[in-house]
Amino acid sequence: MNNKKKIANLIFPDIQETIADLEQKYPKRNLPEGAIVTRFAPSPTGFLHTGSLFTSLVSARFAHQTGGIFFMRLEDTDQKREIEGSGEKVLEQLHIFGITPDESYLTGGMYGPYVQSERKEIYHTVIKEMIEKDLAYPCFCTHDELDEIRAVQEEKNVLPGYYGEYAKCRKLTEEEVIAKLENQEPYVIRFKSHRDQDTEMSFTDAIRGTITFSPPVNVQDIVIMKGDQLPTYHFAHVVDDHFMRTTHVTRGEEWMPSVPNHLALFEALGFELPIYCHFPVIMKLDDGKRRKLSKRKDVEASVDYFLEQGYPIEGFLEYLMTLANSNFEEWRLEHPMDDIYDFNLSFEKMSLDGALFDLEKIRSISKDRLGLMDADTFVQKAYEYAVQYSEGLKKVIDQNPDYFREIINIERNPEKPRKDYEKYSDILSVIDFMYDEYWLVRFESGLQFNERYQAEDLISILEEYQDNFRLDVSQEEWFDDMKNLAINRKFAARGKDFKKNPELYIGTIGDYAEILRLATCAKKNTPNFYFVLKILGENRVKQRIQKTLEYLKQS
Ligand code: GLU
Repeated sequence: MNNKKKIANLIFPDIQETIADLEQKYPKRNLPEGAIVTRFAPSPTGFLHTGSLFTSLVSARFAHQTGGIFFMRLEDTDQKREIEGSGEKVLEQLHIFGITPDESYLTGGMYGPYVQSERKEIYHTVIKEMIEKDLAYPCFCTHDELDEIRAVQEEKNVLPGYYGEYAKCRKLTEEEVIAKLENQEPYVIRFKSHRDQDTEMSFTDAIRGTITFSPPVNVQDIVIMKGDQLPTYHFAHVVDDHFMRTTHVTRGEEWMPSVPNHLALFEALGFELPIYCHFPVIMKLDDGKRRKLSKRKDVEASVDYFLEQGYPIEGFLEYLMTLANSNFEEWRLEHPMDDIYDFNLSFEKMSLDGALFDLEKIRSISKDRLGLMDADTFVQKAYEYAVQYSEGLKKVIDQNPDYFREIINIERNPEKPRKDYEKYSDILSVIDFMYDEYWLVRFESGLQFNERYQAEDLISILEEYQDNFRLDVSQEEWFDDMKNLAINRKFAARGKDFKKNPELYIGTIGDYAEILRLATCAKKNTPNFYFVLKILGENRVKQRIQKTLEYLKQS
């Protein structure tokens, strides 16, 4: 046995397989021409980041619109940062957004394991062969030794890092290495870079075109396996995306500077290079400056925030599609009711700069989507939201689902939808007055009538309305009734009449309606008033006006 083999065997005594065996075990996927294989590779460090939802949505779409595969791989090699169970949570949240990987550690698949810490044998097989082929070597340097190297480099003002003449352990003789291993000295494994300092490196990104890195590029002997026997990100990416047969590596642009490391490893191993697609990072405007959406500073960095707030899933996904492709909005205008997945994403139309996160836009898209939703779907989704996040809302729906549906159905006409709700958590504050117990709370906290009107005027207006209103008529007739009563009391039928001759009137029909709204709903703004009154029903309307009259008489 030659010495290189001996070293490889001392490090990995149990590994019998070779890279060729792995090639056979994980053959190229049998997919139709043009089908793309993408992956989502989260680290289990807590929660689903809004940026990761964006990346996985887009990656899943690229795969599925070509009849390909989208899989999930849990990248748990940094075990210090790991939060137990967060992989499941991420999958659960993806699922809520309708994104279900075709393969994952929960569903399995032919290219697993789908958790990096369970792929040790694969990494070790590759590294063992790399050592034998002089593409990798163990490094025994301690922290102190590495610090010393850095200090020398700083003093000489040369490129920092572990390379060339500074790569101390690269110069150890094979006998020295064997002795150290037999002596059980701790080590990491480094890639043995064969690059010279003066050559540039380039690759073609599907979104950004050809990118060239000027020298010195990747002369570093980077660590590929840590002391805990687990691979580093760079190495695991190369091995996994090769043997899991990823065709397109879709990831955030923060990985761009690492590409030379990856190219060097692909090249050394003779693996076919995947197509890189570096997505824009989601940015936020902070005090006029753009910065990355931050896990620590921004609530909206976590998709949990949007779920808790009850933004409709379809609105949020739609918003992310607008970030992905600049022509999505144009398509949406032409196809307002189509499934967003009928839109074909393209790499060319992805923005190159960080995409700017815009909460106002999410709000407005969500309002549109909730307005366009049919009542049954709305009720069902609102209920699902309530079960998880809002006991109060759940209670009112449970009390009488039909009544709730009737309220939600007010003017739910797809031709010209009303936009009463932005998110499910708004529902109660918009319609709570339709429930007597909530109405009473509002009523008891005081009715904010316009100070222009004296209590006795309000009383006489309300008494008259109470005796004369009709609800078993059309909306037009109901409105005419109200208008006539208002005109008789010197309210202007139109705002512009009032503006022209304010001395002739005591207000507008809007002011008159506001008095009625306060008296019946304890609120100035409500969904369409006619339907509100009809759903409340004549008796409750009368009772509420009666209570308001008593209140006014006492004040
Ligand atoms: N685990 C890496 C991360 O969470 C994945 C990067 C990639 O997609 O390759 O950032």
